[in-house]
Order: sequence, then structure tokens, then C-alpha cells
Amino acid sequence: MVVLYELIKKVFLLFPLHSFSQRTGDSNQAVQLRADRSPPWSYENTEAWGNDYEQCNGRRQSPIALRTERSLWVPYLNLKFGNYDVPLTNVTLMNIGYTVQFQVPPTENGQLPFITGAKLNDRYEADNVHFHWGSPTSQGAEHLIDGRRYSAEMHIVHKNVRYGTVEEATMNPDGLAVLGIFLEGVNNPTVSYPGLDEIFNHLPEVREYESTSQLNNPFTMRQLLGNLNTKVFFSYSGSLTTPPCSEAVRWFVFRDALQISQNQLNKFFQIMDPNGQPLLNNYRPVQPVNERLVLYRPSLGILKVRGV
Ligand SMILES: [Zn+2]
Repeated sequence: MVVLYELIKKVFLLFPLHSFSQRTGDSNQAVQLRADRSPPWSYENTEAWGNDYEQCNGRRQSPIALRTERSLWVPYLNLKFGNYDVPLTNVTLMNIGYTVQFQVPPTENGQLPFITGAKLNDRYEADNVHFHWGSPTSQGAEHLIDGRRYSAEMHIVHKNVRYGTVEEATMNPDGLAVLGIFLEGVNNPTVSYPGLDEIFNHLPEVREYESTSQLNNPFTMRQLLGNLNTKVFFSYSGSLTTPPCSEAVRWFVFRDALQISQNQLNKFFQIMDPNGQPLLNNYRPVQPVNERLVLYRPSLGILKVRGV
């Protein structure tokens, strides 16, 4: 509290008192300051997001419950990866209050990693990588697969190159393409992944809100995907899973999960929110599928069309 009081004093020195109009008393000012540092929404009341962000009430929201048998099977859907095998330069991991993420920097060849194919009409360049997780007693992946929720979910957000910024991209239905990768905490994983390991090794350094950590051991985007079977995935048209819930996303969610150690998973539960509390269960509940068609790219090359 002493630190907070000092902070309030400093802010008052920097800003005239009337900038805090309608606020009287130290406790209210403290609340106001804390609120200013936090995102203006929380995972405690996801149902209320639509009050402030109209798009969160839309008809093509994410995440959803994916079901193999209710999807349209399309064996010829091929997702292509560009610059995914070239090491990234200068990756900085950051606690942004509601997740841990890094902005994807250019690779050693000066270009960004990208995806294309799978009915994407354009090239989509990687923008950021972030995570959703649960708690020591609950699973925290966002998408469900045949009723199952995995421990955590990694998102690799890609921006359509025809748009200059992510903000501009979110205003267009073909603005973003996001890869969803499930992580499953197990006691004795048989494999380890150099990319993910590098992130987990640095998680303790970003426990506090707005803290950052340089990832010094170079890794490629492919190494983040480990030995994941990227040929088997679901694809559907959806939204950001955080406000403003922009309906601008083509989703690609891989069926299989990457196994990580329980120790690695536990590191997520040490991450703190802007109020210094553990950031837990930072996932949005599943949303109605409505009239959407979900595609499923199966592992076998057999055409199998199912009703939806
Ligand atoms: Zn996400």
C-alpha cells in the first residue's frame, strides 16, 4: 500500500488534480489507478463482454466445441507454412495482463513467417504468439475437441498482408488467420520441444504484469509446433476470443495436442494479473456454432462427406 500511495503522489505531481474529477478520497483514487492499469474486461465475467463490446454478441464467435462427426471432411485442404524453418531474431516475451505473448519478429532472412493455402486467398504473416491456460484444478484450452478440453492452448495469430496493421485487419472478415495448438500437461513427456522449452524457461521472468524477458536461444516457428501433425486440423470462420471479439478470424485448430511436462504447465499458474493476483483460467467459454460450417482435414486421404 505504501508503494501504491507513493505512486498516487507521483501521478498527482504529473497530472493536475482535476484530471481525477468526480473522484474523492484516497481509496477511490487507488481504485481508479488500478483500473487504469488493467484491461477494461476480465475473465471473471465473460458474459458481460457484449455490454461494452458489441461484437462479442455476434453469430460467428470463438472458441467453439469442435466435433469430428459434425464437420465437413475435406482431405484436400492443405495448409502451407513459409519461413517456419528459419530462426527468429530477438524474441521478447511479455506479460500483458491477460496472457503472456511475444510479437513475432522477422526471421534471420529478414522476412516474417507466414501461412497460406487451405482456402486462404492471401498470405498471412505471423504477428504474435500467446497462450490460454487453466488452474491447478482445471483445464484451460479454449476450443473443445469431441467434448474434451486440453490443459492449455497456444495461439499463433497471423495478419493478412493486404492490411497494414492488426487493428485494420480486425475490421475485415478476412483479416486474420489463427493457428490453435493444444498443450497437454503430462507427468513424463517422451519428447521435448526446443521452441516451447525456451518459452517455458523464461516464464518465471515474466510473472509480473508488463515484465519482459529476452529469449536468447534462437528457435524457429516450426520448433514451436514440435512434432505436431499439422495435416490434421479443423477450420472455421470465427472471432478473436478476447474483446473486442472481432469476427475477422479464419481458425485452424490442430486435432492433436503437444505434450508438455506438468512442471512446465505449472509455470503458467505463477503468472500474475495487473492486480498482482495469479492469472488463472484465461480462456473464454465455448460459443454457439450457429449456421457455420466447420471443416475437418482428416489424416487419411479418403473423401468422406458428413452432414453438419
Ligand atoms: Zn488467444
